[in-house]
Amino acid sequence: MKLDRRGFVKFLVGGVVGTMLSPIPWKLTDDIAIWTQNWPWVPNPPNGANSFKNTISPFRGDGIGVSVRLIDQKRAVTLSGVPDNPINQGGMSCIDLSGVQYHYNQAVRVKSPMVFRDGAFHAISWEEATGLFIGKLKEIRDQGTPEKVALVDGSGPGTMKDLLGRFMACYGSPNYMSMPNASDTEAQILKLMYGAGGTMGYDLENADFIISFGCGLLEGWGSQRTLLAYKDWRQEGNRGKTTLIQVAANASTTSSKADQWVAIAPGAEGAFALGLAHVILKENLGNLGALTGRAFGLGSGVDSQAMSFSGFRDLVLEEYGPDKVTQVTGVSPEKIQDLARRFAKAKSPLALPGRGKGTMPGGLYEFMAVHSLNALVGAVNRSGGVGPVMSPPLTSWPEPALDSVAEKGLRNARIDGAGSRYPFSSSLLHQFADVVAEAPKSPVEMLVVYKSNPAHNAPSSKEFNRARSKVPFVVSFSSFWDETTKNANLVMPNHSFLERWEDGTTPAGVPFPTYVLGAPVLPPLFDTRPTADVILETTKALGGSIATSFPWKSYEDLLKFRVAGIAASQQGVVSVPGSLAEQQPRGFSSAGDLWSSLTENGCWYDPSQRIGKTATGFNTPSGKFEFYCNGISEGLRQAGLDPKRLNVSVQGEAVCMAHFEPAEVEGDPQRYPLLMAPEELAYVFEGEVPSSPYMTKIWPDTLLKGNTLVIHINPEDAHNQHLYEGDPVMIESLKGSAEVRVHLFNGVRPGTVSMAEGFGHTGFDGYIRDKGANTRDMTTVASDALSGMPLWWGTRVKLTKV
Ligand code: SF4
Repeated sequence: MKLDRRGFVKFLVGGVVGTMLSPIPWKLTDDIAIWTQNWPWVPNPPNGANSFKNTISPFRGDGIGVSVRLIDQKRAVTLSGVPDNPINQGGMSCIDLSGVQYHYNQAVRVKSPMVFRDGAFHAISWEEATGLFIGKLKEIRDQGTPEKVALVDGSGPGTMKDLLGRFMACYGSPNYMSMPNASDTEAQILKLMYGAGGTMGYDLENADFIISFGCGLLEGWGSQRTLLAYKDWRQEGNRGKTTLIQVAANASTTSSKADQWVAIAPGAEGAFALGLAHVILKENLGNLGALTGRAFGLGSGVDSQAMSFSGFRDLVLEEYGPDKVTQVTGVSPEKIQDLARRFAKAKSPLALPGRGKGTMPGGLYEFMAVHSLNALVGAVNRSGGVGPVMSPPLTSWPEPALDSVAEKGLRNARIDGAGSRYPFSSSLLHQFADVVAEAPKSPVEMLVVYKSNPAHNAPSSKEFNRARSKVPFVVSFSSFWDETTKNANLVMPNHSFLERWEDGTTPAGVPFPTYVLGAPVLPPLFDTRPTADVILETTKALGGSIATSFPWKSYEDLLKFRVAGIAASQQGVVSVPGSLAEQQPRGFSSAGDLWSSLTENGCWYDPSQRIGKTATGFNTPSGKFEFYCNGISEGLRQAGLDPKRLNVSVQGEAVCMAHFEPAEVEGDPQRYPLLMAPEELAYVFEGEVPSSPYMTKIWPDTLLKGNTLVIHINPEDAHNQHLYEGDPVMIESLKGSAEVRVHLFNGVRPGTVSMAEGFGHTGFDGYIRDKGANTRDMTTVASDALSGMPLWWGTRVKLTKV
């Protein structure tokens, strides 16, 4: 079948809409076909033999399986979802659909190693590039200061993340950082309340009453399974089976598609969860009997530090009555009581913490409140509930060899304060940026960036850029001319995802363990190299204990070593064509058999380990689910920290339990009377790459008018400021300002403005560059009181008519 340009555009948008249940109308699709008639690069599939190869799409980090249609086995023309991958079951997001476009778009790919010299970038050979990189690493290590190398990693869970973390440890630097994410907060909850590692899973498919505390289920929260679960709830015949309540400040797509939207004051989600807990405890609802002998800290007790406490029940009954909660949340006491009763009486109630797509970490106490609520209704470790999901049984990494330089380097406190000032966090990029930006001399000699674009997407990009400009040598491994790469000293471009090996372990929210693997589909288009192989080559050149710790010849060898662990465990199954539809996944006979199956079909999973199917204990100090977290009191004591110095608003036993922690929002409310809430949209992407050219064409005028971003404001606020639809205004915060236009929308709470994320790029190509403004240049970032994680759900702003 010949696919012409118009058909291609219709297919693309239709696929997006079908998968995401987006409100974008088909009429718009037709318009796009007309607007785009002059695009020179719309793929016109050449004639030739069709073939298909499976791999995984890396853009969202959720390990979805994609099938690449190839012409004569050498040119990729389309991607489609693999139906047998249990994570996406044939579905795809907009950005995954755009993968081929990113692979071939010469304007955005870095085509060879580049060095910035004499005010310009120059192409250099790989020998020169690796020589520069390794030489600099040797020089810093020879000075006995390996901690002066820092690395920012944007990859999702998988072997590459582990490889980079291990490389930094063996080199001797504690300063390995990941891009912030809600799964960082979930990891803290797993440790403190469940005593578990792995990932947090939510069994959405089997829940029958879901309260989402701000999660953008239809905007991209969790994995593609979230959208599939929603589709299932709404299917003919299933209506009424699952109730979805969205508790959020704004009328997002999820709010508008929920059974009920509870409009709440921004930042009050934790208080609302505790208000519901109050009603459940007071009226003895829920499934409190299920907690007998399995919960610690609901009632009075003594903690592992021999401190007596009266417990979560008393705290909630005293402090979070509906009248009090109404004052914080703006939701009436009747609504709180009604919702609590309906939630507690459901068969499989489930509460979800998080905001938007889950790229923003949450407040630790807020997440604790939502998990405490789940425990009260018996949702923990139950089908249709929540619980830890074990990591896939990959071969464990051998103990790394550390020489004296590495040991000395690792004894230094991390620059970002994670593990010392903030004992419950493992990475705090915004704190790193603040420290480096403010230091008279940069404590970092070399900054390495992988699969991320912090110059644009860091929580406070301005601070990150101030910090970056002080670092003498910045190395980017990006495949693309993003903002970080454009400001690097050395660029060593990675292969595209169609050219490299890639794997991934269980993505956020999936309720059973998964492992996905993608093999190269095409030979490299440009003079690029897989970053994993460059790192392995570097370990050999650095020699000594570093080389000993990385005995693998190539990344493919390393992946085989890891996958052998799954084969040895004999756990789980692999997807094969038809396996999901026929519910007949198959096992594997050997490591070789598993490897071939993974490289052909891409996915291993273990449905026997689904939440609620296995008896799961709690590896906490009490051996129980902890409403009162012993880990908090122990962590603070070990770090010698007084909670008062951490800005925690409560004292005594409440420090160790869920409570409402009002987040500080910087700025004078008189001068900046409105609260700007950054909004993540399903059809705008922000990550390693921004929205693709195709995506830019489905944006409505109420998002981008020409090249100007449109912010949404309540008509009441607009009236007070004499603003009318479409008026140009200057939006200004303590951090920055931008010219935008206003759209009057009742779905925005009075007192707030909604501003879409993912705009204001200065890198990439003309399809995204100079469009709109970057919210991250304006946001004031607060640090969560206990974990120090960055929170940027609200920034004080003012609007001035221009
Ligand atoms: S105007 Fe363009 S989009 Fe419309 S039919 Fe002709 S070629 Fe196709």
